[in-house]
Amino acid sequence: MEKKIALIAHDKKKDELVDFVKKHKDFFSQYELVGTGTTGTRIIQATDLNVVRYLSGPMGGDQQVGAEIANENILAVFFFRDPLSAMPHEPDVQALIRLSDVHKIPVATNSKTAELLIKGLKA
Ligand code: PGA
Repeated sequence: MEKKIALIAHDKKKDELVDFVKKHKDFFSQYELVGTGTTGTRIIQATDLNVVRYLSGPMGGDQQVGAEIANENILAVFFFRDPLSAMPHEPDVQALIRLSDVHKIPVATNSKTAELLIKGLKA
């Protein structure tokens, strides 16, 4: 089965992730995309890419992406985090990152790392 790319952004980082995906649309169009609910909707609205949307992050979406990681279905995660705001679902975020480390899945948590990750995946 073809591996998927996961897209998640906290609210204050959603514009940045949408711009990033638009900039790299040719790259993202090669993969099946999954994401948390609101992030996925924003990307669908801004591009003609399809994103399989899980629940919104605070409602369990990060856990659903985490389950995909645990099932080895995910090639890479682009998770633009807001490092300056407290999140009610912080434990879920930590769980997702922990599972990424368990399964050695690359996670880009900001746009600079994301640029490098794309370069690496293209290489
Ligand atoms: P959202 O979830 O895309 O539904 O906003 C992201 C998050 O906060 O984890």
